[in-house]
Amino acid sequence: MKTIHKNQLAEIINLTKKIAQEKIAPQASKFDQANAFPRDALHILGESDLPALVLSESEDGFGGKRVELVAAVREIAKVCASTALVFTSHVVLLKAIDISGNDFLKKKWISDLTKFKSLGAFAVHEPDCGSNAGAISTVAVKDGRDYVVNGSKFFITSGEEANAYLVLVKTESEKGLNGMSTLLIEKNNPGLSFGQAEKKMGLKSTSSKEIFFSNCRIPEKNLIGDEGNGLEILGKSLIEWGFYGAAAISSGLAIAALEKAVRHAKERTIAGQPIGVHQGVQFLISDMVLGSETIETYLNSCASIADDKNDIAAINGFKAKLYASEKAIDVTNKAVQVLGGQGYCRENTVERLFRDARGLTLHFKTSEWLRQDIAKAVLKI
Ligand SMILES: Cc1cc2nc3c(=O)[nH]c(=O)nc-3n(C[C@H](O)[C@H](O)[C@H](O)COP(=O)(O)OP(=O)(O)OC[C@H]3O[C@@H](n4cnc5c(N)ncnc54)[C@H](O)[C@@H]3O)c2cc1C
Repeated sequence: MKTIHKNQLAEIINLTKKIAQEKIAPQASKFDQANAFPRDALHILGESDLPALVLSESEDGFGGKRVELVAAVREIAKVCASTALVFTSHVVLLKAIDISGNDFLKKKWISDLTKFKSLGAFAVHEPDCGSNAGAISTVAVKDGRDYVVNGSKFFITSGEEANAYLVLVKTESEKGLNGMSTLLIEKNNPGLSFGQAEKKMGLKSTSSKEIFFSNCRIPEKNLIGDEGNGLEILGKSLIEWGFYGAAAISSGLAIAALEKAVRHAKERTIAGQPIGVHQGVQFLISDMVLGSETIETYLNSCASIADDKNDIAAINGFKAKLYASEKAIDVTNKAVQVLGGQGYCRENTVERLFRDARGLTLHFKTSEWLRQDIAKAVLKI
């Protein structure tokens, strides 16, 4: 078991920032335009064991909390939101194994996942379930010591690039929400196939694909947690960790957009004056400052409180993701405005930041679902 101190966690985050700026940033636009998966970026992050940042110390990880996850993902997202989303989706599987995996799964997967020798993803969404995980149709029927899985998952980040998926299935349909389970399903399992990559507006380097399961035989030792606890496992991994990563992507995008807009407002001159002298541009910039800073401070606060009080990790994750994702669309949109026609062109990163930010109110759980979940928690209904 490692014993890690806070200053070492800070060093890991500084290292993430250095890798992001020196190695990932130069490739980000090129990868976006080619819809290319950021395999090199993951390799470099894996060489420094960065996925182990949030792995428990008992599993030989660095034991970082949500605050550290947010800080690391934000640094990646400032330069490449697609890489940050792939990283966050990977962390969801890693945390599920860390928190609820059996010894077999831990031994087989944790070391490779922490080095990005294997890539993880999660597969919940289906064509007919929207953000309602309880409405999935994919079934896993027990046959001897295996589960036989049939169904499909839709819009899965890292699609065919991942090696293993955290898959939500129905094991006992008649038990409703208590009849759902999570299985680790390997990519090379016979009976597993993929659809075409979605042609998305943004987050173009994330390779979103449909996954089909046709009589996939999955050994029972690949069950994560207990049978019937699928939604609980998803809550502990996707919601209590993944949602903070998702919110941090929005935070990184907003910070990057503000930096670019400020630079442009100082450098772009019209009739001998920088455009930043005009009140109209100043209003845009000040709104962006408030937007970017409130995302950052609110997210940090939600994460820090959840780190101290785990029973509110889910609701704080909902709030942080909702606020960050919606505000980041506004901030990145205003950055396009500050850059004028140049902001609308591929050569300038702000159009990518805006396109990427737009996807973040849709993935995992849409804003409408998050609003309803937050209100229900407050109203206790
Ligand atoms: C970039 C990206 C990455 C993704 N990555 C993954 C992944 O890795 N793994 C995975 O499992 N899934 C992933 N998804 C899928 C994602 O979870 C779904 O897109 C999301 O849950 C919304 O479902 P939908 O697209 O079917 O929209 P729909 O459910 O059809 O929603 C359409 C509209 O109706 C609203 N709506 C629907 N039902 C209700 C309701 N009951 N109350 C109020 N409003 C409602 C929605 O809020 C939305 O505005 C990803 C999606 C995106 C965009």
